[in-house]
Amino acid sequence: MRRIAFMNQKGGVGKTTTSVNISAALALKGKRVLLIDLDPQAHATLHFGLEPQVEFPSLYDVLVEDKELKDVRQQIDENLWLIPAHLDLAGVELQLASIPGREMILRDKLASDDMEFDYIIMDCPPSLGVLTLNALSSAQEVFIPLQPHFLALHGLSKLLQTIELVAKRLNKGLRVSGVIFCMYEGTTLAKEVAEDVLAFFAQGKETSNSWSGATVFNTKIRRNVRLAEAPSFGHSIFKYAPSSNGAEDYELLTAEILEQE
Ligand code: ADP
Ligand code: MG
Repeated sequence: MRRIAFMNQKGGVGKTTTSVNISAALALKGKRVLLIDLDPQAHATLHFGLEPQVEFPSLYDVLVEDKELKDVRQQIDENLWLIPAHLDLAGVELQLASIPGREMILRDKLASDDMEFDYIIMDCPPSLGVLTLNALSSAQEVFIPLQPHFLALHGLSKLLQTIELVAKRLNKGLRVSGVIFCMYEGTTLAKEVAEDVLAFFAQGKETSNSWSGATVFNTKIRRNVRLAEAPSFGHSIFKYAPSSNGAEDYELLTAEILEQE
């Protein structure tokens, strides 16, 4: 079983689009997938057509009310389950402030869960707070979606430092295993940034840390309006626009992810 957190402290880089469509692609390939939405904005939850109302069992109940994962899990499709998010998650930081081990709650809940999955995919919020720490404590791997513009490398070192710290203090086995270019436009600038990122990780291979084994995936997710439209229809790209570039890119990327097994 692989447990992968999709993380980048920047918003709007493609974390949710990538976690949702990779989850759907893996499920279509016959893998049993659990997608956990850790973002109070609940974009992954909405992407699958669920509208978190006031009374809506979600990850909030697991983290704050001590509910079990099975009490809030919903089946979305064949082989695909979701732990939904809710706006209430925005208050978790304060509510858990005095709870020792608050970064480990999800990890313990996963350990006591009786359902088996091939992939657990965690869609992180754009911050480094307690929700992201719960994902990083539960994961074995981190995938970093990146938008290749000129500040991409700038935020990357901060992100890698955080992951390194978590790998030292909270989760010894944690590794960055994938870097994904999203909303790729093939401009000269995007190509240059992509080369810089490749060079950065190639250099990192000579060191020994949580990201020295990272794969920069060959498949780049091109900018494709169908990917931006799909959430409002409540479907993955494979249901909404199966012959789009977006579907093609996420299928190729998923094949690379399966090759890592
Ligand atoms: P994050 O989760 O990192 O905040 P999202 O996945 O929500 O980022 O993406 C931000 C916005 O960009 C969303 O409106 C999404 O639909 C859109 N988007 C993501 N990837 C693509 C793409 N490859 N092409 C076009 N639009 C995209
Ligand atoms: Mg998101």
